[in-house]
Amino acid sequence: MKKYVIGVDLGGTNIRAGLVLGSKLIKKVEVKTEPNKGKNAVIKNLIKAISSVMTKDVAGIGIGSPGPLDYKKGLIIITKNIPLKKVNLKKVLEKKFRVPVFVDNDANCFTLGEALYDSGKKHDCVIGLTIGTGVGGGIVINKKIFHGRMNAGELGHTSINFNGIKCNCGNIGCLEEYVSARGIMRLAKALRAKTPLDVYNLALKGNKKAISVFEKMGFYLGVGLTNFVNIFDPDIIVIGGKISNAWKFFSKNMKKTIKEKAYVNKNPIIVKSKLKYAAILGAASLVKK
Ligand SMILES: [Zn+2]
Repeated sequence: MKKYVIGVDLGGTNIRAGLVLGSKLIKKVEVKTEPNKGKNAVIKNLIKAISSVMTKDVAGIGIGSPGPLDYKKGLIIITKNIPLKKVNLKKVLEKKFRVPVFVDNDANCFTLGEALYDSGKKHDCVIGLTIGTGVGGGIVINKKIFHGRMNAGELGHTSINFNGIKCNCGNIGCLEEYVSARGIMRLAKALRAKTPLDVYNLALKGNKKAISVFEKMGFYLGVGLTNFVNIFDPDIIVIGGKISNAWKFFSKNMKKTIKEKAYVNKNPIIVKSKLKYAAILGAASLVKK
């Protein structure tokens, strides 16, 4: 049996590829995605990233990609930030590397990584949320990604306000519009801040307005998570992505809101992800050996 698998986290800015043995990341590279250079450049960069961790004994490659995508065919349907519309990544990469390739949604891979190797290890029902430029979601039940018919888990595009902000997915009041980087900046309009990191740094210095930005975001997130708790009654919710680093400013309000609103017997555990390469490890575990 072949020993290694390769896991890839395909993001809008960076492509991270890792050589994985069991649950361990043996080698990791990061290559710029360069989405502005077009489809062929992105595929070239993806191949470059995989090639630099490739070794003899590789059983397969797992890719976590933004969606929506067809995980059965390995086909990207459309991605907002990467020009891979209608590209069959599975076919392209299998032709190049001659090993089986599996593709799934990036937030699904993140959640699977957490469910198999870290915070969700001891739990049956794990919900994952990645909060950054957008909001990704994943549902892992008994260590398997729940796909519904195909694209289940788009938790960032569930609405928390039908009179709210229009989202570019076509829905109104999507959670993503309120808690992602975009949501933070909308709440931080009165502040001299250009990025969520600026807002975070102001909050660290004790700026009350900056702190209240995250407190409001925590409330919105709590409203969204209450819906997931009422639907899934999960054992654990794991939150990752860049914005999750402001945990100490938003988590109190988030938890308080769920406690007040959720209609379940016992509130789930809610934690910040601490598994650094959850998406790579989760993608690697897509490979069926
Ligand atoms: Zn939306």
